[in-house]
Amino acid sequence: MHIVLTSSKSFSIQQQVNAFFILGAVVLICCLCGILSRPVTFLAYLWPANAVLLGLFLRFKHLNLWGGWLGAFSAYMLADLMTGSSLQLTFILSLANLMNVTVSLFLINFWKLNYRNYNQGFTFLYLFIICALGGSLVSALFAIATVPYLSDTFMSTQRLGVDFGMWWAGEIVNYITILPIILFFPTLNEMGKKFKNMKLKQFRLIKLLPLVAIVISVTFTHIFFGPGALLYPLAALIWAALSYPIFSVALINSIVCLVTYHSLTYFYLSESSSAYLTTTISVRIGLCMLGLAPLILCIITSNRRELYKKVLHLANHDSLTNTINRRHLFEKGERYLSEAKSHTVSLIMLDLDHFKKMNDQYGHHIGDLVLKHFSQLVEDNIRTNELFARIGGEEFLILLMNTTLQETQTIAERIRIKTELTPMQLPDGDLLFITTSIGIAHQSLPTELSLQHIINQADHALYRSKALGRNQITIAS
Ligand code: GH3
Ligand code: MG
Ligand code: MG
Repeated sequence: MHIVLTSSKSFSIQQQVNAFFILGAVVLICCLCGILSRPVTFLAYLWPANAVLLGLFLRFKHLNLWGGWLGAFSAYMLADLMTGSSLQLTFILSLANLMNVTVSLFLINFWKLNYRNYNQGFTFLYLFIICALGGSLVSALFAIATVPYLSDTFMSTQRLGVDFGMWWAGEIVNYITILPIILFFPTLNEMGKKFKNMKLKQFRLIKLLPLVAIVISVTFTHIFFGPGALLYPLAALIWAALSYPIFSVALINSIVCLVTYHSLTYFYLSESSSAYLTTTISVRIGLCMLGLAPLILCIITSNRRELYKKVLHLANHDSLTNTINRRHLFEKGERYLSEAKSHTVSLIMLDLDHFKKMNDQYGHHIGDLVLKHFSQLVEDNIRTNELFARIGGEEFLILLMNTTLQETQTIAERIRIKTELTPMQLPDGDLLFITTSIGIAHQSLPTELSLQHIINQADHALYRSKALGRNQITIAS
């Protein structure tokens, strides 16, 4: 078993120093946020530091160095000392925090869980279970074994059970609210792609409905207080999980958990302090379940969506050339003709010349490469909205809408010349020249003719091109 917590040998001093300052700064900011959220001398309302640190260690392996750990430890110490805790208490609390991250990271490595697969199957669920039953449990046990016996303690030996529960439940809420945001945060590359997609797609107001439902349901948790408030946002969260990408769901989830938490703790705090302590533990555990369900639902739904896209692509495309296949061309072509959104339809039918000879001379494998080379060449010379399909061995078809016969001829001629002038390089460096014969059929719309009938016209024209000596274009009369 290979466990990587740090491997300082292969890293330079500069990298250690960088890791020290980066993690030191991030953890310090997180700790200060946590300390600010402490309701008077008690455990923090939200303690993001541990979940952020674990998330960063998982995502950026180059921070997982002695320098990085030292930076984090110094920040834990500094934050508490700055806010007036004693050195002894600060040291113990810092150890408890680091223990949480260390144990979680150890177990993630032990079970060889690849965080990169967080968005596949149950990986995220396993990550959460490790953090909840591994790191958080160990750090809570360590805390109640040490903190109550210190001089300036906020824990008491009389209520170890409650303090343990508060610590542990607090840690798991931190993990469910913070860790997904760090893990699912899109890379620059993904952000660029998303931005491009957003520009292409039209924005529809209806997409905001799940978000509106969430805002309403969360607002209600502040109007009608009570234990049932925990479940107010559930339906809206499920709606969001089925509608939005994973990072948005993680973000929404965190905000909903924190706001609902605020509403519920505020309610119980106003009841009595003893009710507050015990019920807060149950509220925190409940919140984790509330947060976990939409995340897993979102992951599984997007996996299914991806899988469906892949299967659909396989069903509609030719696996060798990645052009659309015969079945999909007919499906789309028939629809184009029946919808008659266009004034004309043009078909360009292409067949490579003497392809069998090439197969015989160079082998089937080279024949396959020729098919790929040719289809790439055609793709480069047509527009993306034009249908290009492989309909047989070395036979291809292009379907163009709203294109005059003159334009169709120009496109076909361009492809014919490009094919003739662009040889394929063979593995031994030699050049293999190919040519294609072409038949064109052109039809005004609407028409009584079927797509198959127009294809037959193009096929006859192609046959004439072959008969006239190949590498030429014939237009069906
Ligand atoms: P013509 O100039 O008259 O079109 O002659 P041709 O040799 O190109 O045409 P023919 O129809 O006689 O032969 C086509 C060949 O294409 C026969 C078949 O083995 C080959 N073929 C069909 N599908 C594939 C494929 O996926 N890969 C390869 N390498 N060859 C294929
Ligand atoms: Mg041929
Ligand atoms: Mg043929």
